[in-house]
Amino acid sequence: MSDTMERTRADLVLPDIASGMLIDGAIVTGEHFIEVIDPATGAPFALAPDATRAELDQAVAAARRAFPAWSATAIEERRALLVRVAERLRAQAEPIGKLLTTEQGKPLSDAIGEIARAAAHMEGLVQLDISDQLLRDDGYERVEIRHRPLGVVGGITPWNVPIMLATLKIAQALYTGNTLVLKPSPLTPLSTLAYGQAIADILPAGVLNVVSGGNDLGAWMTGHPGIAKISFTGSVATGRRVLESAAGTFKRVTLELGGNDPAIVLPDADIEAAADGIARSAFGNCGQICMAVKRVFVHSSIQDALLNALVVRAEAIRVGPGTDPESRMGPLQNKMQFDKVAGLIHDVRNTPGARIVTGGTVRTGKGYFIEPTIVAGLADDAPLVREEQFGPVVPVLVYDDLDDAIARANATEFGLGASIWTSDPAKGSEIAGRIEAGQVWINRHGGNTKDAPFGGAKYSGYGREQGVAGMRSYMELQVVATPSRQ
Ligand code: NAD
Repeated sequence: MSDTMERTRADLVLPDIASGMLIDGAIVTGEHFIEVIDPATGAPFALAPDATRAELDQAVAAARRAFPAWSATAIEERRALLVRVAERLRAQAEPIGKLLTTEQGKPLSDAIGEIARAAAHMEGLVQLDISDQLLRDDGYERVEIRHRPLGVVGGITPWNVPIMLATLKIAQALYTGNTLVLKPSPLTPLSTLAYGQAIADILPAGVLNVVSGGNDLGAWMTGHPGIAKISFTGSVATGRRVLESAAGTFKRVTLELGGNDPAIVLPDADIEAAADGIARSAFGNCGQICMAVKRVFVHSSIQDALLNALVVRAEAIRVGPGTDPESRMGPLQNKMQFDKVAGLIHDVRNTPGARIVTGGTVRTGKGYFIEPTIVAGLADDAPLVREEQFGPVVPVLVYDDLDDAIARANATEFGLGASIWTSDPAKGSEIAGRIEAGQVWINRHGGNTKDAPFGGAKYSGYGREQGVAGMRSYMELQVVATPSRQ
């Protein structure tokens, strides 16, 4: 390590609002740390705790101790406490949002927007009716379907929308009567630590624990005998490891993984509206959204019009540090993702027939900035089409025959979302039935609501979150049959 690095390292501290992990109701700083990098500069700007296995064990033990009382707490009381959590999160949107922008890269207005949406989502989720059901009472026996909490849930989140994803896991795990050990990505730990610190006094000790550390910490959680369920959001490759590791202790597992969402634009589509929706989805959060448009299939009769409309939108996006109020798109979140997306653009430049219609600039110098990029002329087997780019680069592919477009849209191991753009919504809905994806939107792309179960088909996931179906995945179904007469 150079002198400069050592000096920099010595300068780094834990931010006041994220001064440690939340374990058993206390803020624990620990003795080991990871550096957190600002993607707008590429330099570390703060430290976060790097939990030891013993600290994870303490968090799991605290969550287990808290479970009996929390699961016995009336659901109205749990709802009321979670509403207070949402209110506190909203009240702290500015300071937590600043930390989110610095560690994640997104513009401050987007960070604050993510926090506001997360708070609203929590308030909505805890209104869902998750009560038990009477299957029958026929004079012979009374059969009930009850739903019991599982115990301790382990929540593992990625770096793209840390507060939103943490909120979904907190809301679902705690509302259903479980306790939670939550682990953010090592690349964006601070906003989630700040979240835990901000709401620590609202919840009984041990009900929510927030631990930070490296990828090892995630692996320890998935194998931990004290954890009953893993709710994981991240990549397909890690999801596979989570599933394997969870098998040893028969953990319940929900996996929300990657996507390669198609948008199919029919010849009768409103082109301006389609371009608005596709550009917003493909370039929002710098393209780092699981359910972003990642492939556009446009009918040949309107390809030029759609491309032109997309170019106008892409070129209007101002790229810069998230702390600059003028920026509409920040940097990619980390060097690995930046290199991957830069590599995909490089590959396009070396592909005969492929064309960068706009963008394509990978900025040199500090930070991980790439301009919004639209590519035409690629074949379906090009890496940018086959792989999840997770960055602001979208390929536009042309079709003549709708059946062919549907087959090409489905020719992927992913199956998260898809959209159909048409002035005939009934036709769009019929096409949706032929798309292999967990959700298909007509004339919009993305967005999930508290009452609609969300998740992926094929390699994009395992199970659902949100909605009553998602809530149930945090519970064990139990049938209780009582004879009517003895
Ligand atoms: P990742 O899989 O690299 O990491 C996700 C989390 O898993 C991190 O907290 C990481 O520390 C942890 N982890 C790493 N190794 C682990 C292991 N062996 N066991 C347990 N946990 C481990 O994903 P990422 O790069 O942070 O996130 C990007 C991916 O997330 C993209 O593919 C994106 O599509 C996906 N994503 C999906 C959704 C969804 O709802 N479907 C939402 C957001 C992001």
